[in-house]
Amino acid sequence: MTSAADTLGIYIHVPFCLRKCPYCDFYSCENSLQKRDAYVQAVCRNLDFYGDGRYVDTIYFGGGTPSLLTPKHIETILSHAGVVFELKKPEVTMEINPATVTAETLDGCRRAGVNRISIGVQDLNDEALRTLGRLHTAQQAIDTVYAAREAGFENISCDLMIGTLGQDSGRLRETLERLTSLPITHISAYLLKIEDGTPYAAQNMKQRVPNDDESADLYMEMTDFLRKHGFFQYEVSNFAKKDFESRHNCRYWKCLPYLGIGPAAHSCMDTRFYVPADLDGFINAEKQTVITEDSSPCTIEERIMLGLRLVEGIPLEWLGERQKHLAERFIKAGFMSQSDGRLSFTPAGFLVSNAILAEILYED
Ligand code: SF4
Repeated sequence: MTSAADTLGIYIHVPFCLRKCPYCDFYSCENSLQKRDAYVQAVCRNLDFYGDGRYVDTIYFGGGTPSLLTPKHIETILSHAGVVFELKKPEVTMEINPATVTAETLDGCRRAGVNRISIGVQDLNDEALRTLGRLHTAQQAIDTVYAAREAGFENISCDLMIGTLGQDSGRLRETLERLTSLPITHISAYLLKIEDGTPYAAQNMKQRVPNDDESADLYMEMTDFLRKHGFFQYEVSNFAKKDFESRHNCRYWKCLPYLGIGPAAHSCMDTRFYVPADLDGFINAEKQTVITEDSSPCTIEERIMLGLRLVEGIPLEWLGERQKHLAERFIKAGFMSQSDGRLSFTPAGFLVSNAILAEILYED
């Protein structure tokens, strides 16, 4: 029998965007058909290089904007992966920007083998979407959900952003009400982070968006709302209907192996490594250049840190005596909980998890 640790997840970073959003620091570049064709060829060359017949049970097209690839591109990559790896009923996710898809492309992607769609909705308020520099309206995002459903997708996730300019409890609630009434199975909700070097940082957005306390209130209100509407939190930023957790993303938190292909993609196999953020370098190289970050990853500290992102938490036996003693203090304070021999964060604990983890893992 194959254990989860013997299987592999594949992450493909698609580095094209129509336009850069002012808050985003992911690697992406301008889109051209010629570059996209050359990029797809390079992805296939790299699949050949790494392909060792291993079982692959998740494939994730992330970006950037993977929906700028054509269904034919997706089909080429997936059929190639099927030749050099053993695809084991894989969950195949593709990130979609509502400004870039039609009913036809969604249908084509499903036929090519994609079975899970992650839609970059971010908000369902048009003013908020304009401020975020998004190229779609709330109605377009809603139409994309219905078009995906119409195309036969039963596993649909939406991304949501918390703590954005002008967001208050009323506006968040309106978006959540509209979002949870759609035929979706999963929500990823991220707190807006102003990254250095982005246009948002230059516009001094840190001073203008909800402060940490206000964002924490919005987060707590959201977790409560989603739970009451059938979306169960399984990770600090992720909520799903029963059995619709993202299998691919769970690999990251459970320290299971994944291979990243494409500029700026990260991998964790026997070592942890990444590919430089350089599209032309990736296209021109026979095999992608990789830079090793860690030659012996998945230490117990790392497993504790990643495992505690999950609501199921970690086995208590992973902790030493000093750490267990500290954990008891956080349980009494309402930031952690313990049941069936496992330790986990409460929703309030997730908000301060970095500080708690620093104490548990690194202070003597
Ligand atoms: S579409 Fe996504 S990846 Fe591209 S710039 Fe906007 S947020 Fe970043």
